[in-house]
Amino acid sequence: MKKYTHAWLAFKAIERLEHTHLAKANKKYAANLVTWFKNHKDGVIQGAWYPDAVIKDMAYSHVMKYSPAQGTGVFRNLPSSCLIYAGGKSSSLYKKGFVVNKNTNLPARCEAIAHAVIDNLKMQETESKGSPISATDNHIAVLLFMLSHYIADAHVPFHCDSRKFSQGDNLHGHIEGIWEKEIKKVHSIDEANERFFYQPNGYPLRQNENQFQSSFLAQVEAELANRKFQITWGTGNNNTLDYMTALCQYSYLLSYQLFPSGYDETSVTLANWQGLPGQNISFEQLSVTVLSDAVDSIARVWLRVWRRYLKWKHIND
Ligand SMILES: [Zn+2]
Repeated sequence: MKKYTHAWLAFKAIERLEHTHLAKANKKYAANLVTWFKNHKDGVIQGAWYPDAVIKDMAYSHVMKYSPAQGTGVFRNLPSSCLIYAGGKSSSLYKKGFVVNKNTNLPARCEAIAHAVIDNLKMQETESKGSPISATDNHIAVLLFMLSHYIADAHVPFHCDSRKFSQGDNLHGHIEGIWEKEIKKVHSIDEANERFFYQPNGYPLRQNENQFQSSFLAQVEAELANRKFQITWGTGNNNTLDYMTALCQYSYLLSYQLFPSGYDETSVTLANWQGLPGQNISFEQLSVTVLSDAVDSIARVWLRVWRRYLKWKHIND
Protein backbone atom coordinates (compact mmCIF):
# COMPACT_ATOMS: atom_id res chain seq x y z
CA MET A 1 0.00 0.00 0.00
CA LYS A 2 0.98 3.60 -0.38
CA LYS A 3 1.69 6.46 1.98
CA TYR A 4 -1.69 8.07 2.66
CA THR A 5 -3.47 4.71 2.57
CA HIS A 6 -1.30 3.50 5.47
CA ALA A 7 -1.96 6.64 7.50
CA TRP A 8 -5.70 6.56 6.77
CA LEU A 9 -5.95 2.93 7.94
CA ALA A 10 -4.18 3.82 11.19
CA PHE A 11 -6.68 6.64 11.86
CA LYS A 12 -9.59 4.34 11.00
CA ALA A 13 -8.28 1.72 13.43
CA ILE A 14 -8.21 4.27 16.24
CA GLU A 15 -11.66 5.56 15.28
CA ARG A 16 -12.85 1.96 15.46
CA LEU A 17 -11.44 1.55 18.96
CA GLU A 18 -12.96 4.83 20.10
CA HIS A 19 -16.47 4.15 18.82
CA THR A 20 -17.00 0.41 18.76
CA HIS A 21 -18.74 -1.43 21.54
CA LEU A 22 -16.25 -3.04 23.93
CA ALA A 23 -16.59 -4.69 27.31
CA LYS A 24 -15.83 -2.28 30.16
CA ALA A 25 -12.27 -3.48 30.89
CA ASN A 26 -11.25 -3.34 27.24
CA LYS A 27 -12.94 0.03 26.82
CA LYS A 28 -10.51 1.40 29.41
CA TYR A 29 -7.46 0.03 27.55
CA ALA A 30 -8.79 1.28 24.23
CA ALA A 31 -9.48 4.76 25.64
CA ASN A 32 -5.92 5.00 26.93
CA LEU A 33 -4.52 4.09 23.49
CA VAL A 34 -6.89 6.46 21.68
CA THR A 35 -5.77 9.40 23.83
CA TRP A 36 -2.11 8.46 23.38
CA PHE A 37 -2.52 8.15 19.60
CA LYS A 38 -4.27 11.51 19.30
CA ASN A 39 -1.35 13.17 21.07
CA HIS A 40 1.00 11.76 18.43
CA LYS A 41 -1.16 11.85 15.33
CA ASP A 42 0.96 14.40 13.43
CA GLY A 43 3.61 11.70 13.06
CA VAL A 44 1.34 9.02 11.57
CA ILE A 45 1.91 9.75 7.89
CA GLN A 46 5.68 9.75 8.23
CA GLY A 47 5.83 6.90 10.75
CA ALA A 48 3.47 4.53 8.96
CA TRP A 49 5.42 5.14 5.75
CA TYR A 50 8.86 4.62 7.33
CA PRO A 51 9.14 0.94 6.31
CA ASP A 52 8.83 1.87 2.62
CA ALA A 53 10.65 5.19 2.78
CA VAL A 54 13.66 4.26 4.88
CA ILE A 55 13.77 0.64 6.09
CA LYS A 56 13.06 -0.77 2.62
CA ASP A 57 12.71 -4.43 3.62
CA MET A 58 9.94 -4.84 1.02
CA ALA A 59 11.25 -8.03 -0.59
CA TYR A 60 11.19 -10.08 2.62
CA SER A 61 9.42 -8.42 5.56
CA HIS A 62 6.45 -6.74 3.82
CA VAL A 63 5.51 -10.07 2.29
CA MET A 64 4.85 -13.75 2.95
CA LYS A 65 4.73 -15.43 -0.44
CA TYR A 66 2.72 -18.59 -1.09
CA SER A 67 2.38 -20.86 -4.13
CA PRO A 68 -0.07 -23.73 -4.64
CA ALA A 69 1.39 -27.24 -4.28
CA GLN A 70 0.24 -30.85 -4.33
CA GLY A 71 -1.49 -32.43 -1.36
CA THR A 72 -3.42 -30.93 1.52
CA GLY A 73 -2.57 -27.77 3.42
CA VAL A 74 -3.37 -26.71 6.97
CA PHE A 75 -5.07 -23.34 7.09
CA ARG A 76 -5.42 -21.39 10.31
CA ASN A 77 -8.59 -19.66 11.50
CA LEU A 78 -9.42 -15.98 11.69
CA PRO A 79 -12.10 -14.04 13.59
CA SER A 80 -15.48 -14.85 12.04
CA SER A 81 -16.14 -11.27 10.90
CA CYS A 82 -13.09 -11.09 8.61
CA LEU A 83 -14.24 -10.86 4.99
CA ILE A 84 -10.92 -12.28 3.82
CA TYR A 85 -11.64 -15.40 5.90
CA ALA A 86 -15.13 -15.98 4.50
CA GLY A 87 -13.84 -15.42 0.95
CA GLY A 88 -10.80 -17.66 1.40
CA LYS A 89 -12.83 -20.55 2.75
CA SER A 90 -14.85 -20.60 -0.46
CA SER A 91 -11.68 -20.73 -2.59
CA SER A 92 -10.87 -23.90 -4.54
CA LEU A 93 -7.33 -23.71 -3.09
CA TYR A 94 -8.58 -23.76 0.52
CA LYS A 95 -7.17 -26.81 2.35
CA LYS A 96 -5.04 -27.61 -0.70
CA GLY A 97 -1.27 -27.83 -0.45
CA PHE A 98 0.96 -24.76 -0.60
CA VAL A 99 4.60 -23.82 -0.23
CA VAL A 100 5.89 -20.71 1.48
CA ASN A 101 8.92 -18.81 0.25
CA LYS A 102 11.30 -19.22 3.20
CA ASN A 103 12.91 -15.83 2.60
CA THR A 104 9.69 -13.99 3.41
CA ASN A 105 8.73 -13.23 7.00
CA LEU A 106 6.05 -10.56 7.43
CA PRO A 107 4.36 -12.29 10.43
CA ALA A 108 7.65 -12.52 12.35
CA ARG A 109 8.31 -8.83 11.60
CA CYS A 110 4.94 -7.93 13.15
CA GLU A 111 5.58 -10.10 16.20
CA ALA A 112 9.00 -8.46 16.68
CA ILE A 113 7.66 -4.90 16.47
CA ALA A 114 4.75 -5.74 18.80
CA HIS A 115 7.31 -6.89 21.36
CA ALA A 116 9.47 -3.82 20.78
CA VAL A 117 6.52 -1.48 21.47
CA ILE A 118 5.73 -3.21 24.76
CA ASP A 119 9.40 -3.43 25.79
CA ASN A 120 9.95 0.25 25.13
CA LEU A 121 6.82 1.25 27.05
CA LYS A 122 8.00 -0.84 30.00
CA MET A 123 11.47 0.71 29.88
CA GLN A 124 10.01 4.18 29.73
CA GLU A 125 7.82 3.41 32.72
CA THR A 126 10.70 1.90 34.70
CA GLU A 127 13.45 4.41 34.02
CA SER A 128 13.63 7.84 35.61
CA LYS A 129 13.29 10.92 33.39
CA GLY A 130 16.43 11.53 31.36
CA SER A 131 17.74 7.98 31.69
CA PRO A 132 19.97 7.19 28.70
CA ILE A 133 18.21 3.89 28.05
CA SER A 134 14.64 5.18 28.20
CA ALA A 135 12.68 5.43 24.94
CA THR A 136 10.90 8.67 24.07
CA ASP A 137 7.18 8.83 23.32
CA ASN A 138 7.99 9.79 19.74
CA HIS A 139 10.17 6.72 19.30
CA ILE A 140 7.41 4.44 20.59
CA ALA A 141 4.85 6.19 18.38
CA VAL A 142 6.94 5.53 15.27
CA LEU A 143 7.22 1.84 16.18
CA LEU A 144 3.46 1.64 16.65
CA PHE A 145 2.83 3.34 13.30
CA MET A 146 5.38 1.09 11.59
CA LEU A 147 3.59 -1.93 13.03
CA SER A 148 0.37 -0.79 11.34
CA HIS A 149 2.22 -0.67 8.01
CA TYR A 150 3.28 -4.32 8.12
CA ILE A 151 -0.16 -5.43 9.36
CA ALA A 152 -1.88 -3.59 6.52
CA ASP A 153 0.49 -4.99 3.88
CA ALA A 154 -0.48 -8.57 4.83
CA HIS A 155 -4.03 -7.86 3.56
CA VAL A 156 -2.84 -6.97 0.07
CA PRO A 157 -3.09 -10.17 -2.01
CA PHE A 158 0.02 -9.32 -4.04
CA HIS A 159 2.08 -9.45 -0.84
CA CYS A 160 1.16 -13.08 -0.24
CA ASP A 161 1.27 -14.56 -3.75
CA SER A 162 4.52 -15.78 -5.35
CA ARG A 163 3.33 -14.70 -8.81
CA LYS A 164 5.06 -11.43 -9.70
CA PHE A 165 2.31 -8.88 -10.18
CA SER A 166 4.73 -5.99 -9.66
CA GLN A 167 6.10 -6.95 -13.08
CA GLY A 168 4.29 -6.95 -16.42
CA ASP A 169 1.62 -4.24 -16.22
CA ASN A 170 2.27 -3.87 -12.45
CA LEU A 171 -1.25 -4.65 -11.27
CA HIS A 172 0.11 -4.49 -7.73
CA GLY A 173 1.09 -0.84 -8.08
CA HIS A 174 -1.97 -0.05 -10.17
CA ILE A 175 -4.53 -1.24 -7.62
CA GLU A 176 -2.70 0.28 -4.65
CA GLY A 177 -2.54 3.47 -6.70
CA ILE A 178 -6.34 3.57 -7.11
CA TRP A 179 -6.79 3.26 -3.31
CA GLU A 180 -4.21 5.99 -2.67
CA LYS A 181 -5.69 8.38 -5.22
CA GLU A 182 -9.20 7.98 -3.79
CA ILE A 183 -8.07 8.55 -0.19
CA LYS A 184 -6.16 11.67 -1.20
CA LYS A 185 -9.04 12.98 -3.30
CA VAL A 186 -11.64 12.83 -0.53
CA HIS A 187 -9.45 14.20 2.28
CA SER A 188 -8.09 17.63 2.95
CA ILE A 189 -4.31 17.19 3.10
CA ASP A 190 -1.59 19.52 4.34
CA GLU A 191 1.03 18.24 1.88
CA ALA A 192 3.82 20.59 3.03
CA ASN A 193 3.66 19.22 6.56
CA GLU A 194 2.83 15.62 5.62
CA ARG A 195 -0.38 15.43 7.56
CA PHE A 196 -4.14 15.41 7.17
CA PHE A 197 -6.10 18.48 8.14
CA TYR A 198 -8.25 17.38 11.04
CA GLN A 199 -11.85 17.57 12.14
CA PRO A 200 -12.35 18.99 15.66
CA ASN A 201 -12.43 15.39 16.96
CA GLY A 202 -8.93 14.75 15.62
CA TYR A 203 -9.76 12.54 12.63
CA PRO A 204 -8.90 13.34 8.99
CA LEU A 205 -11.09 16.03 7.49
CA ARG A 206 -13.02 15.00 4.40
CA GLN A 207 -13.63 17.02 1.26
CA ASN A 208 -15.46 16.16 -1.99
CA GLU A 209 -18.27 14.57 0.00
CA ASN A 210 -20.20 13.51 -3.13
CA GLN A 211 -17.17 11.71 -4.45
CA PHE A 212 -16.71 10.00 -1.08
CA GLN A 213 -20.31 8.82 -0.89
CA SER A 214 -20.07 7.14 -4.27
CA SER A 215 -16.67 5.55 -3.66
CA PHE A 216 -15.55 2.22 -2.21
CA LEU A 217 -14.35 4.16 0.83
CA ALA A 218 -17.97 4.81 1.82
CA GLN A 219 -18.57 1.06 1.44
CA VAL A 220 -15.63 0.38 3.77
CA GLU A 221 -17.19 2.67 6.37
CA ALA A 222 -20.58 0.97 5.96
CA GLU A 223 -18.99 -2.47 6.30
CA LEU A 224 -17.24 -1.48 9.52
CA ALA A 225 -20.36 0.20 10.91
CA ASN A 226 -22.30 -3.04 10.43
CA ARG A 227 -19.60 -5.32 11.76
CA LYS A 228 -19.06 -6.19 15.39
CA PHE A 229 -15.46 -5.61 16.45
CA GLN A 230 -13.85 -8.84 17.67
CA ILE A 231 -10.76 -8.87 19.85
CA THR A 232 -10.12 -12.58 19.33
CA TRP A 233 -7.22 -13.72 17.14
CA GLY A 234 -9.38 -16.62 15.87
CA THR A 235 -9.41 -20.16 17.25
CA GLY A 236 -5.94 -21.69 17.56
CA ASN A 237 -4.01 -18.43 17.18
CA ASN A 238 -2.14 -17.35 20.30
CA ASN A 239 -0.23 -14.24 19.33
CA THR A 240 0.52 -11.66 16.66
CA LEU A 241 2.72 -14.17 14.81
CA ASP A 242 -0.06 -16.78 14.52
CA TYR A 243 -2.65 -14.17 13.60
CA MET A 244 -0.52 -12.56 10.90
CA THR A 245 0.38 -16.00 9.51
CA ALA A 246 -3.33 -16.79 9.20
CA LEU A 247 -3.99 -13.46 7.47
CA CYS A 248 -1.23 -14.10 4.94
CA GLN A 249 -2.71 -17.51 4.13
CA TYR A 250 -6.12 -16.02 3.34
CA SER A 251 -4.57 -13.10 1.49
CA TYR A 252 -2.92 -15.70 -0.77
CA LEU A 253 -6.34 -17.29 -1.38
CA LEU A 254 -7.78 -13.83 -2.09
CA SER A 255 -5.13 -13.33 -4.75
CA TYR A 256 -6.34 -16.43 -6.57
CA GLN A 257 -9.95 -15.23 -6.34
CA LEU A 258 -8.83 -12.09 -8.12
CA PHE A 259 -6.41 -13.69 -10.57
CA PRO A 260 -7.39 -17.36 -10.98
CA SER A 261 -4.94 -20.24 -11.43
CA GLY A 262 -3.35 -20.19 -14.86
CA TYR A 263 -2.87 -16.43 -14.87
CA ASP A 264 0.26 -14.54 -13.91
CA GLU A 265 2.02 -11.25 -14.56
CA THR A 266 2.52 -12.16 -18.22
CA SER A 267 -1.19 -12.63 -18.92
CA VAL A 268 -2.98 -10.20 -16.57
CA THR A 269 -2.93 -6.70 -18.04
CA LEU A 270 -4.39 -3.28 -17.33
CA ALA A 271 -6.86 -4.01 -20.14
CA ASN A 272 -8.13 -7.43 -18.98
CA TRP A 273 -7.73 -7.61 -15.19
CA GLN A 274 -11.38 -6.91 -14.43
CA GLY A 275 -13.57 -9.77 -15.62
CA LEU A 276 -11.03 -12.59 -16.07
CA PRO A 277 -12.70 -16.00 -16.55
CA GLY A 278 -13.01 -17.62 -13.13
CA GLN A 279 -12.46 -14.35 -11.25
CA ASN A 280 -14.93 -14.21 -8.38
CA ILE A 281 -14.29 -10.86 -6.76
CA SER A 282 -14.89 -7.38 -8.17
CA PHE A 283 -12.59 -4.43 -7.59
CA GLU A 284 -15.15 -2.93 -5.17
CA GLN A 285 -15.41 -6.18 -3.19
CA LEU A 286 -11.64 -6.49 -3.13
CA SER A 287 -11.26 -2.94 -1.82
CA VAL A 288 -13.87 -3.39 0.91
CA THR A 289 -12.34 -6.73 1.95
CA VAL A 290 -8.74 -5.52 2.09
CA LEU A 291 -9.35 -2.10 3.61
CA SER A 292 -12.00 -2.97 6.21
CA ASP A 293 -10.15 -6.09 7.37
CA ALA A 294 -6.91 -4.10 7.59
CA VAL A 295 -8.62 -1.50 9.82
CA ASP A 296 -9.87 -4.20 12.19
CA SER A 297 -6.52 -6.01 12.21
CA ILE A 298 -4.59 -2.88 13.12
CA ALA A 299 -7.15 -2.11 15.84
CA ARG A 300 -6.95 -5.71 17.11
CA VAL A 301 -3.14 -5.92 17.29
CA TRP A 302 -2.73 -2.41 18.69
CA LEU A 303 -5.35 -2.95 21.38
CA ARG A 304 -3.75 -6.23 22.42
CA VAL A 305 -0.27 -4.68 22.54
CA TRP A 306 -1.54 -1.75 24.58
CA ARG A 307 -3.54 -4.01 26.88
CA ARG A 308 -0.48 -6.13 27.64
CA TYR A 309 1.50 -3.05 28.56
CA LEU A 310 -1.29 -1.57 30.72
CA LYS A 311 -1.89 -4.86 32.53
CA TRP A 312 1.82 -5.03 33.34
CA LYS A 313 1.76 -1.38 34.43
CA HIS A 314 -1.18 -1.90 36.78
CA ILE A 315 0.47 -4.92 38.37
CA ASN A 316 3.63 -2.88 38.89
CA ASP A 317 2.01 0.39 40.04
ZN1 LIG B 1 4.95 -1.96 2.55
